[in-house]
Amino acid sequence: YFITFEGPEGSGKTTVIEHIRVLLSDSHEVVKTREPGGIPISEKIREILLTKEHDMDGRTEALLFAASRRQHLVERVIPELEAGKIVLCDRFIDSSLAYQGIARGIGFDDIMAINKFAIDTHMPDLTVYLKLDPETGLERIQDNNRENNRLDEETIDFHKKVVSGYNELSVLYPNRIKVVDASQSVDSVVSDTLNIINTYIQS
Ligand code: C5P
Ligand code: MG
Repeated sequence: YFITFEGPEGSGKTTVIEHIRVLLSDSHEVVKTREPGGIPISEKIREILLTKEHDMDGRTEALLFAASRRQHLVERVIPELEAGKIVLCDRFIDSSLAYQGIARGIGFDDIMAINKFAIDTHMPDLTVYLKLDPETGLERIQDNNRENNRLDEETIDFHKKVVSGYNELSVLYPNRIKVVDASQSVDSVVSDTLNIINTYIQS
Protein backbone atom coordinates (compact mmCIF):
# COMPACT_ATOMS: atom_id res chain seq x y z
CA TYR A 1 0.00 0.00 0.00
CA PHE A 2 1.11 3.49 -0.87
CA ILE A 3 0.02 5.84 1.92
CA THR A 4 0.75 9.57 1.78
CA PHE A 5 0.58 12.18 4.54
CA GLU A 6 -0.47 15.72 3.78
CA GLY A 7 -1.15 18.92 5.64
CA PRO A 8 0.14 22.43 6.20
CA GLU A 9 3.29 23.52 8.01
CA GLY A 10 3.30 22.39 11.64
CA SER A 11 0.53 19.82 11.21
CA GLY A 12 2.82 17.07 12.52
CA LYS A 13 3.33 14.94 9.42
CA THR A 14 6.92 13.97 10.23
CA THR A 15 6.14 13.06 13.86
CA VAL A 16 2.99 11.12 13.04
CA ILE A 17 4.66 9.15 10.23
CA GLU A 18 7.44 8.01 12.54
CA HIS A 19 4.93 6.81 15.17
CA ILE A 20 2.88 5.02 12.52
CA ARG A 21 5.99 3.39 11.07
CA VAL A 22 6.90 1.95 14.46
CA LEU A 23 3.34 0.80 15.23
CA LEU A 24 2.77 -0.87 11.85
CA SER A 25 6.20 -2.54 11.91
CA ASP A 26 4.91 -5.13 14.41
CA SER A 27 2.73 -6.67 11.74
CA HIS A 28 3.95 -5.35 8.35
CA GLU A 29 7.04 -4.43 6.40
CA VAL A 30 7.00 -0.65 6.40
CA VAL A 31 9.25 2.07 5.03
CA LYS A 32 8.94 5.82 5.34
CA THR A 33 10.19 8.45 2.98
CA ARG A 34 9.61 12.08 2.20
CA GLU A 35 9.14 14.61 -0.56
CA PRO A 36 10.77 16.56 -1.94
CA GLY A 37 13.73 14.28 -1.25
CA GLY A 38 14.15 10.68 -0.19
CA ILE A 39 16.82 9.83 -2.79
CA PRO A 40 19.95 11.75 -3.95
CA ILE A 41 18.56 13.42 -7.12
CA SER A 42 15.40 14.48 -5.32
CA GLU A 43 17.33 15.77 -2.29
CA LYS A 44 19.38 17.90 -4.71
CA ILE A 45 16.23 19.25 -6.31
CA ARG A 46 14.96 19.99 -2.78
CA GLU A 47 18.07 22.08 -2.15
CA ILE A 48 17.46 24.08 -5.32
CA LEU A 49 13.83 24.60 -4.34
CA LEU A 50 14.58 25.69 -0.80
CA THR A 51 17.66 27.86 -1.28
CA LYS A 52 17.18 31.51 -0.51
CA GLU A 53 19.78 32.72 -2.99
CA HIS A 54 17.53 32.84 -6.03
CA ASP A 55 14.03 33.96 -6.89
CA MET A 56 12.11 31.27 -8.69
CA ASP A 57 9.31 31.42 -11.22
CA GLY A 58 6.17 29.61 -10.03
CA ARG A 59 5.98 27.24 -12.99
CA THR A 60 9.66 26.38 -12.66
CA GLU A 61 8.98 25.58 -9.01
CA ALA A 62 6.02 23.38 -9.97
CA LEU A 63 8.06 21.51 -12.58
CA LEU A 64 10.92 20.91 -10.15
CA PHE A 65 8.54 19.49 -7.54
CA ALA A 66 7.08 17.23 -10.23
CA ALA A 67 10.54 16.16 -11.45
CA SER A 68 11.63 15.38 -7.91
CA ARG A 69 8.41 13.40 -7.39
CA ARG A 70 8.95 11.35 -10.56
CA GLN A 71 12.50 10.32 -9.70
CA HIS A 72 11.61 9.48 -6.10
CA LEU A 73 8.61 7.45 -7.28
CA VAL A 74 10.58 5.44 -9.83
CA GLU A 75 13.71 4.93 -7.77
CA ARG A 76 12.21 4.41 -4.33
CA VAL A 77 8.44 4.12 -4.01
CA ILE A 78 7.66 1.68 -6.84
CA PRO A 79 10.44 -0.79 -5.96
CA GLU A 80 9.37 -0.83 -2.28
CA LEU A 81 5.73 -1.39 -3.27
CA GLU A 82 6.76 -4.18 -5.62
CA ALA A 83 8.67 -5.77 -2.75
CA GLY A 84 5.36 -5.89 -0.87
CA LYS A 85 6.07 -3.10 1.61
CA ILE A 86 3.80 -0.42 2.96
CA VAL A 87 5.27 2.91 1.86
CA LEU A 88 4.55 5.92 4.09
CA CYS A 89 5.37 9.13 2.26
CA ASP A 90 5.59 12.62 3.79
CA ARG A 91 3.85 14.74 1.06
CA PHE A 92 2.97 13.77 -2.53
CA ILE A 93 0.77 15.09 -5.36
CA ASP A 94 -1.72 16.85 -3.06
CA SER A 95 1.07 19.13 -1.78
CA SER A 96 1.62 20.37 -5.32
CA LEU A 97 -2.10 20.78 -5.93
CA ALA A 98 -2.52 22.78 -2.69
CA TYR A 99 0.76 24.76 -2.68
CA GLN A 100 1.54 25.39 -6.34
CA GLY A 101 -1.95 24.88 -7.81
CA ILE A 102 -4.04 26.83 -5.36
CA ALA A 103 -1.84 28.90 -2.99
CA ARG A 104 0.66 29.91 -5.67
CA GLY A 105 -2.21 30.41 -8.09
CA ILE A 106 -0.85 28.38 -10.99
CA GLY A 107 -4.14 26.52 -11.27
CA PHE A 108 -5.37 23.11 -10.31
CA ASP A 109 -5.68 21.76 -13.87
CA ASP A 110 -2.15 22.66 -14.97
CA ILE A 111 -0.61 21.22 -11.80
CA MET A 112 -2.71 18.08 -12.21
CA ALA A 113 -1.54 17.77 -15.83
CA ILE A 114 2.20 17.94 -15.08
CA ASN A 115 1.78 15.63 -12.11
CA LYS A 116 -0.18 13.08 -14.13
CA PHE A 117 2.79 13.11 -16.50
CA ALA A 118 5.15 12.62 -13.55
CA ILE A 119 3.29 9.88 -11.69
CA ASP A 120 1.35 8.17 -14.48
CA THR A 121 -0.99 5.67 -12.79
CA HIS A 122 0.74 5.68 -9.41
CA MET A 123 -1.74 7.57 -7.28
CA PRO A 124 -1.64 6.94 -3.51
CA ASP A 125 -3.97 4.24 -2.23
CA LEU A 126 -4.75 6.29 0.84
CA THR A 127 -3.93 9.84 1.95
CA VAL A 128 -4.06 11.04 5.55
CA TYR A 129 -4.74 14.78 5.67
CA LEU A 130 -3.62 16.29 8.97
CA LYS A 131 -5.98 19.22 9.14
CA LEU A 132 -4.91 22.26 11.13
CA ASP A 133 -5.60 25.97 10.95
CA PRO A 134 -2.61 27.84 9.56
CA GLU A 135 -2.16 30.10 12.61
CA THR A 136 -1.69 27.13 14.95
CA GLY A 137 0.61 25.42 12.45
CA LEU A 138 2.86 28.44 12.06
CA GLU A 139 2.95 28.95 15.83
CA ARG A 140 4.12 25.35 16.26
CA ILE A 141 6.97 25.66 13.79
CA GLN A 142 8.19 28.91 15.37
CA ASP A 143 8.94 26.85 18.45
CA ASN A 144 10.47 23.92 16.56
CA ASN A 145 13.51 23.81 14.37
CA ARG A 146 12.45 25.87 11.39
CA GLU A 147 14.48 25.08 8.32
CA ASN A 148 14.71 28.78 7.50
CA ASN A 149 14.27 28.17 3.79
CA ARG A 150 12.83 30.17 0.89
CA LEU A 151 9.44 28.47 1.02
CA ASP A 152 9.09 29.00 4.77
CA GLU A 153 9.02 32.74 4.20
CA GLU A 154 5.53 32.75 2.76
CA THR A 155 2.85 34.95 4.31
CA ILE A 156 -0.03 33.82 6.49
CA ASP A 157 -2.32 34.48 3.51
CA PHE A 158 -0.37 31.94 1.47
CA HIS A 159 -0.71 29.34 4.23
CA LYS A 160 -4.44 30.04 4.52
CA LYS A 161 -4.77 29.28 0.82
CA VAL A 162 -2.77 26.07 1.28
CA VAL A 163 -5.24 24.92 3.93
CA SER A 164 -8.30 25.83 1.87
CA GLY A 165 -6.68 24.01 -1.05
CA TYR A 166 -6.32 20.86 1.08
CA ASN A 167 -9.91 21.25 2.28
CA GLU A 168 -11.13 21.40 -1.32
CA LEU A 169 -9.07 18.33 -2.20
CA SER A 170 -10.54 16.34 0.70
CA VAL A 171 -14.03 17.13 -0.60
CA LEU A 172 -13.06 16.27 -4.18
CA TYR A 173 -11.47 12.90 -3.29
CA PRO A 174 -13.34 11.67 -0.19
CA ASN A 175 -12.55 8.01 -0.90
CA ARG A 176 -8.80 8.51 -1.01
CA ILE A 177 -8.25 11.43 1.36
CA LYS A 178 -9.16 10.89 5.02
CA VAL A 179 -9.14 13.87 7.36
CA VAL A 180 -7.60 13.81 10.85
CA ASP A 181 -7.98 16.69 13.30
CA ALA A 182 -4.33 17.63 13.83
CA SER A 183 -5.06 20.13 16.61
CA GLN A 184 -5.38 17.19 19.04
CA SER A 185 -2.57 15.73 21.14
CA VAL A 186 0.05 13.67 19.29
CA ASP A 187 -1.37 10.49 20.88
CA SER A 188 -4.87 11.19 19.58
CA VAL A 189 -3.66 12.16 16.11
CA VAL A 190 -1.60 8.95 15.91
CA SER A 191 -4.46 6.79 17.14
CA ASP A 192 -6.97 8.33 14.67
CA THR A 193 -4.44 7.87 11.87
CA LEU A 194 -3.77 4.25 12.81
CA ASN A 195 -7.50 3.50 12.85
CA ILE A 196 -7.89 4.93 9.35
CA ILE A 197 -4.96 2.90 8.03
CA ASN A 198 -6.07 -0.33 9.69
CA THR A 199 -9.61 0.10 8.38
CA TYR A 200 -8.22 0.58 4.88
CA ILE A 201 -5.83 -2.36 5.07
CA GLN A 202 -8.53 -4.72 6.38
CA SER A 203 -11.10 -3.72 3.75
O1 C5P B 1 7.54 18.95 4.01
P1 C5P B 1 8.44 20.07 4.40
O2 C5P B 1 7.80 20.97 5.42
O3 C5P B 1 9.81 19.64 4.75
O4 C5P B 1 8.58 20.95 3.03
C1 C5P B 1 9.63 21.85 2.87
C2 C5P B 1 9.11 23.19 2.37
O5 C5P B 1 8.60 23.08 1.04
C3 C5P B 1 8.02 23.79 3.22
O6 C5P B 1 8.31 25.15 3.41
C4 C5P B 1 6.78 23.62 2.36
O7 C5P B 1 5.89 24.64 2.61
C5 C5P B 1 7.33 23.71 0.97
N1 C5P B 1 6.57 23.01 -0.07
C6 C5P B 1 5.99 23.71 -1.13
N2 C5P B 1 5.33 23.04 -2.12
C7 C5P B 1 5.24 21.69 -2.11
C8 C5P B 1 5.82 20.96 -1.04
C9 C5P B 1 6.48 21.64 -0.04
O8 C5P B 1 6.06 24.94 -1.16
N3 C5P B 1 4.63 21.08 -3.10
MG1 MG C 1 7.76 18.09 8.20
